[in-house]
Amino acid sequence: MKKIGFIGLGNMGSKMVVNLLNANYEVIGYDINEKFIDDLIPSGIYKASSLNEIPDDVDIVITMLPNGEIVEKVYENIVNRLKPNTLLTDCSTIDVKTAKKLHKICGEKSLLSLDAPVSGGVGGAKDGTLTFIVGGNEKAYNLMLPLFEVMGKKSVLCGSAGSGQAAKACNNMLLATTMIGVGEAFNLGENLGLDLKKLFDVLSTSTGNCWAINTYCPIRGVGPSSPADNNFQPGFSGNLMLKDLTIALKAIKDTKTKAPFGTKSQENFKQMVDDNKGELDFSAIVNFNK
Ligand code: NAD
Repeated sequence: MKKIGFIGLGNMGSKMVVNLLNANYEVIGYDINEKFIDDLIPSGIYKASSLNEIPDDVDIVITMLPNGEIVEKVYENIVNRLKPNTLLTDCSTIDVKTAKKLHKICGEKSLLSLDAPVSGGVGGAKDGTLTFIVGGNEKAYNLMLPLFEVMGKKSVLCGSAGSGQAAKACNNMLLATTMIGVGEAFNLGENLGLDLKKLFDVLSTSTGNCWAINTYCPIRGVGPSSPADNNFQPGFSGNLMLKDLTIALKAIKDTKTKAPFGTKSQENFKQMVDDNKGELDFSAIVNFNK
């Protein structure tokens, strides 16, 4: 059984780790917040009190950290002492440019690497139903596949280095834009005097249907249970959505892509965060354009 180092035991990492432990993997965990490691000791994690205590002989290192700058610092700290062919899998959501740089750093040290951001949120991390959106080579992907299967329900190898982060940026730009669109459709329906439950019945079964309506309807009391029914407690916060849209916006600029709706979505979420509402679930955006 492989020996895993897991760095970043926050909302997502702490739950992904439990699924690895339940599948009998040996996991040595590190987080700058010691309490997060201690909380996982009853589940069977071994504690690293610093990055230096992640053993040199681990087979795989998984990172689940807030941003690219932090992931890069962690990689710089550990790559020199890991044995050749150790696999580093970064599951954080970070910008494409940094992701590619991390693959390069690993390649120069004869380490294997994957960028593997996830979709599915804290619930998916807990239930082991995440989707892993992966970039890298097939050798690394095949090594990681059994772990993806323990922590998720699906993984897609999208292409070479950085492709996972690229596909994730596209997905979240689309999600943000559809959520704003769903809010506008319900606002219009309300202003036209429609019963919103009837409108849900129509939209969720007609050509306007999408995940933002069918699974995560942002209108209180309408459709399946969602953060809208719980005062927009996250879920997936507006702050995190802004982070992802800012990554997408950078990619839009770098590639000179025309994306007026994605660009506008980033502006909308920036406004939400500037108005100190970033802690709310991202679907609360529907109340900002009323
Ligand atoms: P989080 O802030 O809860 O967890 C991040 C953890 O990293 C924290 O526990 C923090 O103490 C730790 N950390 C920070 N710097 C560190 C360092 N130098 N060394 C070790 N540990 C360090 O965030 P999260 O919600 O778990 O998200 C993690 C990543 O997953 C982010 O990139 C996020 O965008 C992505 N993501 C989150 C969700 C979600 O719904 N929360 C969904 C998909 C993707």
